Amino acid sequence: MFRCSQCQPGTQKKKLFKAEGYWIYECSKCSHQFADVQTNAEHADSVYGDDYFVGGKAGYPDYVRDASLLTKRGIYYGKVLQKYMPPGSILDIGAAAGFILKGFTQCGWQGIGVEPNARMSAFATNEVGVDVRHGTIEDLEIDRQFDLVSMIQVLPHFYDLNKGLERVAALTKPGGYWLIETWNKDSRTARFLKSAWHEYSPPSVLHWFSPKTIAFFGGALGMKVIARGRPTKKISGAHAKSLISYKIENKPVDKVIRPLLRLIPEKLNIPYPAEDLFWILLQKQSVHSNHKSVFADGKE
Ligand SMILES: [Zn+2]
Repeated sequence: MFRCSQCQPGTQKKKLFKAEGYWIYECSKCSHQFADVQTNAEHADSVYGDDYFVGGKAGYPDYVRDASLLTKRGIYYGKVLQKYMPPGSILDIGAAAGFILKGFTQCGWQGIGVEPNARMSAFATNEVGVDVRHGTIEDLEIDRQFDLVSMIQVLPHFYDLNKGLERVAALTKPGGYWLIETWNKDSRTARFLKSAWHEYSPPSVLHWFSPKTIAFFGGALGMKVIARGRPTKKISGAHAKSLISYKIENKPVDKVIRPLLRLIPEKLNIPYPAEDLFWILLQKQSVHSNHKSVFADGKE
């Protein structure tokens, strides 16, 4: 089972609860949460098959239909980053069909994506016009470093988190950045809903983070947190309905809520109340880093 590399050896973990039939554990030292799932390179192949992008459930009902929303998301982050650095080279991990990477390129960034689903990476390259390589970040050969590595809603899916982050650190230029967007296990929503929180959906999701645990994992690899915030996010009605109906399936509330779902138009873009979602920007420490850490003054 997973062990945070910097908490070894012999760190205790506690069982929290079961979600989707898998135990969720918490590291007693750093509070990182992870699922009891045996993972290897084939894990990514089986979980992020074509069904993940078109099959609904915990994945996407139709990822390609959300193209313009996703491209706007890349543009949103391109604008966020302007405050901290000029555009440069980018590595986008978990690039899927390349829409978010395309948004970054429209803000002046240039680079490549990595995506474990072969159909998605081919679509990105052939139809969207961005260079997305087929593979996992844990295993794919990449022989250059980047100014920025973006990990938008992908870190919880790394099949080998320790190895993946070590590779990402090696692929980051000195003074380069990581932009991470992920769900906050310490948010009010997550703590209130416990196992019913939508992000507790193993085996596609394997890890649950907070700004503090990201700072901890990044810090062990020479990365310092320099900014964080909450994204404004919209999701399509179709995606919202798919997520909700998966969560209520076979539960007592199903009868009450399912008829109401039909009232949500598929194409409507719904503002997502993103209290449980955050972005965080880290910089690889070098003599040239001059940003003040947002954790340095003791504030979260
Ligand atoms: Zn730990």
